[in-house]
Amino acid sequence: MDARLDERLAGGGRLLGRLSRLPPSGTLAVGEKVRALRASGRSIFNLSGGAPDPGPPVGLALPAIAPGENSLGDPWGELTLRKSFADRLARRYNVVRGADREMVVTIGAKQGLYFALLALLEPGDEVIVIDPCWVTYAPSVELAGGRTIPVPLAAPDNRLDTEAIAAAITGRTRVVLINTPHNPTGRVFSEAELSALAHLVKERDLWLMCDESFDLFVFDGRTHLSPGVFDAIRDRTILLYSFSKAFALPSYRIGMLAGPEPLCSLVANCTQQLISSVALAAQKVAHAALQKETEWAPLLRRTYQDKRDACLALLKQDARVDARAPQGTFYLFPNIERTGWSSERLATRLLDAAGVAVTSGAVFGSAGEGHIRLNLVGPLPALLEGTKALLRGLPG
Ligand code: PMP
Repeated sequence: MDARLDERLAGGGRLLGRLSRLPPSGTLAVGEKVRALRASGRSIFNLSGGAPDPGPPVGLALPAIAPGENSLGDPWGELTLRKSFADRLARRYNVVRGADREMVVTIGAKQGLYFALLALLEPGDEVIVIDPCWVTYAPSVELAGGRTIPVPLAAPDNRLDTEAIAAAITGRTRVVLINTPHNPTGRVFSEAELSALAHLVKERDLWLMCDESFDLFVFDGRTHLSPGVFDAIRDRTILLYSFSKAFALPSYRIGMLAGPEPLCSLVANCTQQLISSVALAAQKVAHAALQKETEWAPLLRRTYQDKRDACLALLKQDARVDARAPQGTFYLFPNIERTGWSSERLATRLLDAAGVAVTSGAVFGSAGEGHIRLNLVGPLPALLEGTKALLRGLPG
């Protein structure tokens, strides 16, 4: 935390609340460093984030809002958008959710995640997360009053370890929170893995929350499977989606939550109290993007698979990194233990000495140590330049 804020908190004590314990995002913090370094005149290869390439399937201009529409909207989100999304889930993934009462539009997957946790958790309740996992889960759980219990994926190929999850369940466990395709490892969980987990969740009377923000990023002919298909856990499953990834619209902040009606009602009520309604112009853009999905999805998949393969081929030429092909997402998560450096130290060195921004694997949990994460969202030529600079910057 910044020293001045620390002093103010210690001094007056007036700001000392739960936000004082909220850490900055381990991934977005790298982006801030990149912005600061670029502002100081340094040229930086950014393998930690950026604007998506290909850009979205729609123009970036905001659609007009008619005078009659210029009011607060439905806290559940625009019904046209929910209907299109419900059709999409049924068609693509066999997930049947009513547009009317089982789906809420959110400000990115982040809002859906947090409001669903607020709906489910009492202080001290436990949420099992998989280790490594996206940096936002633990802070969201903790801000909502809960505790995260990390359970590592199983070696050697990052399988969902239902036995280890079962062993971590206590009387306080309320939710198992997973993510497929998985950030940061790129695993796409199989039907066998997901159905074993569904069985456990039902048997132990828990909720299953599944973040499917990378649903369209599945490679080598794989298909994404949602645990939303399992009827036996229909009343205890919450699904999160993001237009930031699937439709290359991160700046519009649109996501979707699908779940049972009582949960969605609580989330919509919370939206009404804390947000009122999600920006209508952004929802219109999301709706327009959704209409293009048939042409867009194969293009997205092909482009990202090509980017993955090209960067992976470079990494594989270097004995200091052990890089495997991710099954999905837009990340590479090579093991860098052979350099003898910790993830954090290596990420810092790469940025300071080689001008390459990557994310330390350790920010994703203790199981992420020994890795760095490369984000392939940018255009291929820049990714290749960045990957070459990364290899030049490795120690040893
Ligand atoms: N879920 C995962 C797994 C992510 O990695 C991210 C962003 N990196 C998000 C959700 C963020 O989604 P949104 O922009 O819709 O809030």
